[in-house]
Amino acid sequence: AKADGRNRARLFDAALRERERLRVRLARDLELAIAWRQLHLVFQPIANAATLGIIGYEAFLRWEHPDLGDIAPDLFIPVAERSGLIEEIGLWVADQAFAAAAEWDECLSLSLNLSSVQFRAPGFAEAVLSRARLHGVATSRLEFEVTENAMLVGVQRHEVLEAFRVLQAAGARIVMDDFGTGHSTLSNLKDFNFDKLKIDRSFIAELHDHESSALIVKTTIALGKSLGIKVVAEGVETPAQLAELKLWGCDQIQGYLIGRPAANPGRGAAPRASGLS
Ligand code: C2E
Ligand code: CA
Ligand code: CA
Ligand code: CA
Repeated sequence: AKADGRNRARLFDAALRERERLRVRLARDLELAIAWRQLHLVFQPIANAATLGIIGYEAFLRWEHPDLGDIAPDLFIPVAERSGLIEEIGLWVADQAFAAAAEWDECLSLSLNLSSVQFRAPGFAEAVLSRARLHGVATSRLEFEVTENAMLVGVQRHEVLEAFRVLQAAGARIVMDDFGTGHSTLSNLKDFNFDKLKIDRSFIAELHDHESSALIVKTTIALGKSLGIKVVAEGVETPAQLAELKLWGCDQIQGYLIGRPAANPGRGAAPRASGLS
């Protein structure tokens, strides 16, 4: 049994070392990814839950590594955060996304995901807003999605609040992303002035299998309504999930049922009723 334990420990060490090697490699390769044009954006539609008309798009970052293939953002964003590269990447994402949105119908919103590290960089909010203006994208079309771990504590919490204030003063909206998966959802909801909540797709996926997930989703929609905040559900894949969300009064939906993330939808992309109803 002792030898077993030692073996397990060795395997565990080996796995950790392997992961650390991968991280070091990704950090090094990521530095060249922009210049070598390995990064690109995809856009996923967000629809009005009642009409299914498209109201905007969320941008997601993709990295095509020459040897390792497609690397998921969940893997390389944390690497970018730790190496400090996230600031440069974030501004690159904003530029690309604004260039795309400049071609769309002007009533369509653009949602960007933001990392905590980006919020802490001084002048970040101003830099993003001025880039939007340079591209001719009205700042009132912008939505910034932040996860709860981005809200932090202490001084950093103050910096995040200040960035929110600057963005909202320009007419942009702040979305609490991955709602329900964080550690202090309700106190964050109280302290930060959110315009919208996005229910994490883990709850939507379990909507019909777990009573508790259904209850959480239903309650979150009611909570949003009573706070006067819009609620969007992500990861909607089936008509049955859509029907339930509509019944409970969810404002907006996003997911494979409406559309997968894809290349820039292009000039004139406009709200239209999708084939579903
Ligand atoms: P997120 O913001 O919670 O994004 C939702 C994820 O669910 C995306 O994965 C999206 O492609 C996927 N998804 C959308 N609809 C469906 C569906 O119907 N079913 C299923 N199973 N999945 C769906 P993705 O693109 O791999 O992104 C993962 C995370 O990486 C994002 O989570 C976001 O936190 C982060 N991320 C992506 N792009 C950026 C970026 O430009 N900057 C930052 N800071 N983070 C990013
Ligand atoms: Ca998001
Ligand atoms: Ca999510
Ligand atoms: Ca996420």
